[in-house]
Amino acid sequence: MVGQKIPLSAPDITEAEINAVVDVLKTPQLSLGPKLPQFEQLISKYIGVKHAIAVNSGTSALHLIVRSLGISEGDEVITTPFSFVASANCLLFERAKPIFVDIDPVTLNIDTTKIEVKITDKTKAILGVDLFGLPADWLRLQSIAKEHKLKLIEDSCEALGAELNGQKAGTFADAGCFAFYPNKQITTGEGGVIVTDDEEIAALCRSMRNQGRSEQGQWLQHERLGYNYRLSDINCALGVAQMQRIDELLNKRDKVAEMYNQRLKDVQALRLLTSAPGAKRSWFVYVVILEDGYSQSDRDNILQKLQAKGIGCSDYFSPIHLQPFYISMGYKQGDFPAVEKIAQRTIALPFFNNLNEKQIDYVVSTLKPLL
Ligand SMILES: *Cc1c(COP(=O)(O)O)cnc(C)c1O
Repeated sequence: MVGQKIPLSAPDITEAEINAVVDVLKTPQLSLGPKLPQFEQLISKYIGVKHAIAVNSGTSALHLIVRSLGISEGDEVITTPFSFVASANCLLFERAKPIFVDIDPVTLNIDTTKIEVKITDKTKAILGVDLFGLPADWLRLQSIAKEHKLKLIEDSCEALGAELNGQKAGTFADAGCFAFYPNKQITTGEGGVIVTDDEEIAALCRSMRNQGRSEQGQWLQHERLGYNYRLSDINCALGVAQMQRIDELLNKRDKVAEMYNQRLKDVQALRLLTSAPGAKRSWFVYVVILEDGYSQSDRDNILQKLQAKGIGCSDYFSPIHLQPFYISMGYKQGDFPAVEKIAQRTIALPFFNNLNEKQIDYVVSTLKPLL
């Protein structure tokens, strides 16, 4: 199989998706047509919320949530450094300050025991992330938020279909969001959605995604500062086709993860992703963590050797506070030891719905001798 490349991720696109997109192209409504509300309704019904507002990326969804909660200059928002950079950048967009709290080394989500000492009179909200498809400890986050009168934001961009105590991820905060880049559980090419039960947040997000227009007003009347964060009907049609087979898509991901788990569970050098009490992970990436004895350069060597054998792999994620422009803001190595220790030893292996057993065997048999 050498020479044949296995990508890190790949979307699951069938004739149904292709036809759905082509059908839109045969109509005059490429944007703000019937596919937008259809996609939003499929999302809101599946998640179990009153409102779903589709936008052009997960980052846009986060930005609109932050704005709709009135988070602004000087406000502090508690969040995790172990995430995709957008979950902290959305605060910087509004000149608010991300206050990072280290992670729980087992779940890899924010360590809720370390939050309360970081709360000041500037703290406005907690932005929790359901990392790698595993819900954060939302019951604890909810009680901290209630006690300190803070808003809650749920970044569920990696967790469509995940659950905590039978309740869907994305529903635990004032507003939640999902993303639909091609490596996510479902894709619209690019895209995202805000989900909420809050009438006011929903109305603000709908207006701000569409240049600050009001829903009833004239096209060239702008009630507030807005953006063009609209998701086209072409993208929405793709999303509809994906949502129509969401259970199938998630089952395929579970099966691929299970094939890896079976083959890797007895490998001494590796720690596999685990669950948390009451939580059901929605598989997003398949990440393994090298045990304590390994260094970052050991990990990077392994990544390089896997890549040389045609295996797509990556270091998922570098901590946000150590990204170059966060370092220029004053963060440094040593600020959050738990996340730093783990992040330098992660390996994301190829993971996508149609990854087959033969490919998984090849990945595993290539990886094992490198350990
Ligand atoms: C993918 C992702 C986002 C949003 O990504 P976009 O590329 O803007 O759609 C936000 N947060 C997390 C944790 C993500 O994984």
